[in-house]
Amino acid sequence: VKKKKLLNSRSQKPHIVCVPFPAQGHVNPFMQLSKLLLCTGFHITFVNTEFNHKRLVRSLGQDFVKGQPSFQFETIPDGLPPSNKDATQSIAALLDTTRKHCYEPLKELVKRLNASLEVPLVSSIIYDGLMGFAGKVARDLNIDEQQFWTASACGLMGYLQFDEIVDKGIIPFQDESFTTNGSLDTNLDWISGMKNMRIRDLPSFVRTTTLDETNFICFGLEAKTCMRSSSIIINTIQELESEVLKALMAQNPNIYNIGPLQLLGRHFPEKDNGFKASGSNLWKNDSKCMEWLDQWSPSSVIYVNYGSITVMSEHHLKEFAWGLANSNLPFLWIKRPDLVIDESKPLPQDFLDEVKDRGYITSWCHQEKVLCHPSIGVFLTHCGWNSTLEGICGGVPMIGWPFFAEQQTNCRYISTTWEIGMDVQDDVKREEVTTLVKEMLKGEKGKKIRQKCVEWKKKVIEATDSGGSSYNDFYRLVKEVLHKDA
Ligand code: UDP
Repeated sequence: VKKKKLLNSRSQKPHIVCVPFPAQGHVNPFMQLSKLLLCTGFHITFVNTEFNHKRLVRSLGQDFVKGQPSFQFETIPDGLPPSNKDATQSIAALLDTTRKHCYEPLKELVKRLNASLEVPLVSSIIYDGLMGFAGKVARDLNIDEQQFWTASACGLMGYLQFDEIVDKGIIPFQDESFTTNGSLDTNLDWISGMKNMRIRDLPSFVRTTTLDETNFICFGLEAKTCMRSSSIIINTIQELESEVLKALMAQNPNIYNIGPLQLLGRHFPEKDNGFKASGSNLWKNDSKCMEWLDQWSPSSVIYVNYGSITVMSEHHLKEFAWGLANSNLPFLWIKRPDLVIDESKPLPQDFLDEVKDRGYITSWCHQEKVLCHPSIGVFLTHCGWNSTLEGICGGVPMIGWPFFAEQQTNCRYISTTWEIGMDVQDDVKREEVTTLVKEMLKGEKGKKIRQKCVEWKKKVIEATDSGGSSYNDFYRLVKEVLHKDA
């Protein structure tokens, strides 16, 4: 009887195995998508690396991890040697090692799931654009597969230009002087769906003097593989990236634009999905900063956060610090313990004394909540795609200081296409930081940008309203691709 019962339960729900790339900016949108699919009636297996799993459980809480019969976690090793540091792993190392070592463990895991009578048969594998090996697992086991590109569409188009700029002889650069001799300002006018692009606005990996660079090869290849997929899910909004999406969809029409995922969550009752529960943080969150924000007037605080991976020199850190201090404005600064390359010196005492009444410095916060706090007036950001979307959802003007990958492209779109921000020079100077934050909070240009932010926020909310473009694409994905009546 028990076996029959189990077999019956197998046939009831389509079962999706979700395979994120093991970094914060990928785990977050994957968790959001997984929760949406859970609420729509799917059985979900969320595959973490062993390293990330314990960090994620700490954030989600045991109630979520154990409390959802249709949502289970499984782990695979990431292939890196064990680390005793509960912090960032190198992205380049992860990219390399997951490609080389994760195919077999994932294949074994999916076979084990399919052999178990306790869970439904696996109907699909949704995997990160950077985890191409998971697509091979799906094809080898004759299971449907979908790519989830967690970054921007403009970033994807940027990566797709890598072959072209090599063919045109633009890169590799001859020597390191390219950083200062104006080469990065070369205009690129051939990219369909993109305007106002310079070499410096393409994903950072083009800034190279050798074509052997791993990131250059890997990201270029993954983007091409992604475009060949039978369906591509992107955490973006049709209206936000319309031109570039049109150009991408001319190459592959099966693109589903379902962002910002966190806004779609509002269509499901809280009790069902835990959407309002703590996010999928890999770092420990300081919730006190929210109370600190309460004391400030609307749109008056500078919020500074460079995401989960960015690192900088101590010199740049000090320029940011004194730029903020000299503005005389209040700020919330998220400074991860591993933010500065090769050192862990505290911030200078004279800086801390200067800002003690108006600066709150901590190592991690619940960013989505912070960006929706009314006192936040400007977001100094590295322009990671999740941060960019969260800034847009919060209606907050941005000052961009992109670090790597497609952040450069996002930054260009923030300042020129959407007109919701300005950017800091690569080699940041304190005077520039002070001028920009003051302009944004008090100046005329800031006022115009704030108005644009209100408009974009409205548009992205509308896209996720019932009948909006993201809402429709999500249900099209569920019905046409994942085959579930919802
Ligand atoms: N994040 C957060 N608190 C922090 C820093 C980052 O919650 O103090 C989250 C942020 O909300 C975003 C993700 O971490 O969802 C970072 O992703 P993003 O794509 O912006 O940048 P990455 O970290 O991948 O460079």
